[in-house]
Amino acid sequence: MGKLFIVSGPSGAGKSTLTRKAIDFFPDLRFSISYTTRPPRRGEKNGVDYIFVDEATFDEMIARDEFVEYATVHGRKYGTREKDLRELLSGGVDVLLDIDVQGAEKIAKRIKEAVFIFVLPPSIEVCRERLKKRGDIPPEELEKRVATAIEEIKKIDHYDYVIINDNMESAFEKLKSVIIAERIKKDILAERVKKIFNLQEV
Ligand code: ADP
Ligand code: 5GP
Repeated sequence: MGKLFIVSGPSGAGKSTLTRKAIDFFPDLRFSISYTTRPPRRGEKNGVDYIFVDEATFDEMIARDEFVEYATVHGRKYGTREKDLRELLSGGVDVLLDIDVQGAEKIAKRIKEAVFIFVLPPSIEVCRERLKKRGDIPPEELEKRVATAIEEIKKIDHYDYVIINDNMESAFEKLKSVIIAERIKKDILAERVKKIFNLQEV
């Protein structure tokens, strides 16, 4: 069974940048591709960044109970299809999910053994500046995002690890450390060690 890593936190925290770096770095870590009703941004590819669907298709998927979690984030729907996720995990693949805080709360109720990583900006001012710099948010949306970020940061107690993303390189070192540490836990390796050393069950 693969391990599930949830990277969550407010908009502008650096989740997608960190997620991309982790996927490039670990050849045996897969990104779970979400479904969304938002239109693709320039350079985004269907089936790579997201599976882009219309509202009706998304709603049919909800009705068929296909999502392990879904949420409306800044007016658009996003969801993780349960079948896709379970197939990867049961094939022994470690999976990284980049989802919003509401989605992470839903996963916490359904997949207890997932590892929850909270990414946050070093301050609200930096969060605002990064969102502005990313350039894909209308000015009237910006303060709404910042207010939502403050509400989301209050959920920090639900997480296993916290990465304050001040400097990208050191934030990425921390994410790598979490993934590596989780992969060498005794519960993960005990069976393999017993086989290697031909040990009897105790
Ligand atoms: P999220 O996915 O959490 O919304 P992004 O990864 O899209 O956040 O990051 C938001 C913006 O901030 C992007 O333009 C990104 O390049 C920038 N950014 C992320 N981390 C840092 C950092 N440590 N220092 C400077 N800029 C950063
Ligand atoms: P963006 O539109 O910038 O790619 O993503 C907006 C937000 O949606 C981010 O906070 C991202 O983590 C979140 N998101 C992406 N996919 C999912 C998903 O499948 N479920 C949930 N709940 N949130 C998601």
